Amino acid sequence: MRSNETDRSRRALLKGIVAATAALGPASGTAAVPMQGAGTGEIFRPRTLALIGDRAHNSDAIRVSLDRLFNELELPIEYTTNYYDLSAELLRPYRLFVCFRDNYVFPNGNLSPSGTARGSRQNPLGADLFPNAQYWITEEQGQAVKEFVESGNSLYSMHNNVFLSRSSKNYREVQGGVALSHPALRPFKVKIVNREHPVTKGVSDFMVTDEQHYAIYDKDPRNILLNSENIDGLVFDATLRDPVEGGPGASGPPRNLGTTSTSGWAHEFGRGRVVFTAIGHTIHAMWQPEHLKLQKNAVRWLLKIES
Ligand SMILES: [Zn+2]
Repeated sequence: MRSNETDRSRRALLKGIVAATAALGPASGTAAVPMQGAGTGEIFRPRTLALIGDRAHNSDAIRVSLDRLFNELELPIEYTTNYYDLSAELLRPYRLFVCFRDNYVFPNGNLSPSGTARGSRQNPLGADLFPNAQYWITEEQGQAVKEFVESGNSLYSMHNNVFLSRSSKNYREVQGGVALSHPALRPFKVKIVNREHPVTKGVSDFMVTDEQHYAIYDKDPRNILLNSENIDGLVFDATLRDPVEGGPGASGPPRNLGTTSTSGWAHEFGRGRVVFTAIGHTIHAMWQPEHLKLQKNAVRWLLKIES
C-alpha cells in the first residue's frame, strides 16, 4: 500500500470536504484522516482504498491511471492487490472502496493469452481459456462490502469489476449488476443517458477504443447513466449467461446482444453510494478527457464532496 501525497494546496477541496463531513454527521460510521486547518479547527480528508489488478489488468497501469485521477482531485488513495485480505476490518478506516479487478484467480497457473475474454464467441481460440480459473471472493467478503456501503460509505466499481458479481450474491446486491463479458478492443461511442445526475454533469458523449462491456443492471433503470454503442454496427455474441442460470461460469450457445450495452450506473445503497463505469481496459481509455471528467464527478459524488 502507498499514498500519493502531493504538495499542492488543498484549500478549495478541503473546504468542500469539511462541508461533506459535517453533512455526514457523527453517525456515518466512518473514519477519516485528521488534518489541521488554518484557524478553522480540525478538518478531515476521506481515505480511499483501491483493490486492483488481475490476469488481464496490470496493477501498475491501474495505479498510474488512478494516481492521476486522485492527484488532480487532491485526494489520497491507497492500493492493495491482496484480494484475500478484503474484509470489514480492512475497509474500516476508509470512506471509499474502489474495486478494479475481476472474479478470477489462477493459483495453478494460467497459459491463456491475456487479451482474451471468457464468454465471447469472438474468442480467437474458440475454446474455454479458463480451465484453471478459480473464484476468489467469499460471501463473507461480499457482505463486508455491502455493510461498508450500507453504513454510509461508498463503492466505485470500475471496468471488469462487474465480473465480480458473477461470484457473490452479496456483492451483486450492492454493485447492482453483473457482467455478460465483452468483445475485443474496438471503437465505440459512450452516450450519457441521464444528464441530470451529478456524476454526468458537464460530461459530453465521447468515442473510445476499449472493451465494450455488456452488463445487466438489476435496479431501477433510471439509475443508468451510460450506454455504449458500436456505431459501426458491430454486435456482440455472448456465451456467458446471468449466473442465476448456473453459477459464475453459466454459459450457453452464442447470443446476439446487439450493438448497445449498459455501461454505467449510480445508485444509493442504504446510507452509502455506488457508481459503476465499464470503460477502462487501457490508460488511454481511462484518460479520455470526458471519461476522466466523469470519474472526477463520480469520486466527488461518492465521497459526498460538493463540487
Ligand atoms: Zn479489461
